[in-house]
Amino acid sequence: MRIVLVGPPGAGKGTQAHLLAKTLSIPHISTGDLFRANISQGTPLGLEAKAYMDAGKLVPDEITIGMAKDRMTQPDAAKGFLLDGFPRNLGQAKALDEILADAGIALDGVLDLEVPEEEVVKRIAGRRLCRNNGSHVFHVDYNPPAQDGVCDECGGELYQRTDDTEEAVRVRLEEYHSKTEPIIGYYADQGLLVTIPALGRVSEVTERAIEALRR
Ligand code: ADP
Repeated sequence: MRIVLVGPPGAGKGTQAHLLAKTLSIPHISTGDLFRANISQGTPLGLEAKAYMDAGKLVPDEITIGMAKDRMTQPDAAKGFLLDGFPRNLGQAKALDEILADAGIALDGVLDLEVPEEEVVKRIAGRRLCRNNGSHVFHVDYNPPAQDGVCDECGGELYQRTDDTEEAVRVRLEEYHSKTEPIIGYYADQGLLVTIPALGRVSEVTERAIEALRR
């Protein structure tokens, strides 16, 4: 299966992508995680991306598209993948179409996670990530780890993202409305869009997603 996940920041894309990828046995490809890995390794790409990310802005397409393509063409992604955070604007959606067409493959579906804006802000403010693995995601109230500051899955240290500040979140939401939302119409026109409400328990949302994708 080849799936794209869309939704506002804080919709739970990372959490759901981790669970969906496991269930469907396909790799979870998150451009946000790839950028964060580059930043923590101090690569030139990471240095360039960091300023945009901390400000809540999209990283320029010239950097993002090449990085996403490199990851998508790795052997583990040959039979399918779940894209989380890519594409994030129409230019990237068109670039993805070209990458897929060149490889003679196509998307099976685009899953849109719908969440009200007040909820998004609450989710982001309490979000904590694991230093070892970006898809181990917790929330201080909604999904607290058994031990404060420690990842339940691997024992890694939990931290708050530098772009999870109020100011950066405001910019991220603006970027989402102006640049990412248009791809929802783009995929709806192609008959690929599947929209589900992303409220409720994490496991309920995963079940809803699997059911919607199988239809
Ligand atoms: P969220 O969806 O919660 O905002 P992500 O981890 O997916 O978080 O992305 C964090 C940041 O990484 C974005 O705000 C943006 O700066 C950058 N980023 C991730 N994916 C892309 C992309 N496809 N294009 C441009 N920038 C991106």
